Amino acid sequence: MEKQREERDIQREKGEATRRRRWEQRQERKRLAAQKQEEENRQRRRMDEAFMKEALRQAEKAAALGDVPIGCVIVSQGKIIARGYNRRNADKSVLSHAELIAIRKACRKMNDWRLEDCTIYITLEPCPMCAGAIVQARIPRVVIGSRNPKAGCAGSVLDLLHEKGFNHQADLEGGVLEADCTNMLQAFFRELRQEKNADIGKA
Ligand SMILES: [Zn+2]
Repeated sequence: MEKQREERDIQREKGEATRRRRWEQRQERKRLAAQKQEEENRQRRRMDEAFMKEALRQAEKAAALGDVPIGCVIVSQGKIIARGYNRRNADKSVLSHAELIAIRKACRKMNDWRLEDCTIYITLEPCPMCAGAIVQARIPRVVIGSRNPKAGCAGSVLDLLHEKGFNHQADLEGGVLEADCTNMLQAFFRELRQEKNADIGKA
């Protein structure tokens, strides 16, 4: 009788030890998976910031011509395949937005109207025309710097990138180098105002 109880106790303890070990192994696997995910996220963020820096360099070119500084690059398989910057004033054309210029170049390069493995980086949230072109080109991933509360169509005024009625939706990553993108725009408009005031002063 005594012996049987001892035997039972031993079996129960063994069972508990096994369950505890398995639980610990599961926790360890979960911890490692979370760590891996975190590292991947960090790496992607670093890449996003590097490409956004190039989009900012494009935006500077627009500012140098007196156009609102908005820049864009399109990346395929880790490489920039097209660049564009806002040339609306320079070209006197409403079609000369940074994104449309870059999309046109990327299509030429890929020899395809579909840009299905590309990521587009834009310093400012796209307008309805450009968000429409992104959906039309089936670009799967959009990375933006600043929000555009007055015209943005990646969630601010409308969300054309996630419209279920369309046959394509794009993932959005917002706020990449947001401060740099916003500062560039604010500095441009500040300078514009100062120039205007100086002109008024002269007159
Ligand atoms: Zn646009």
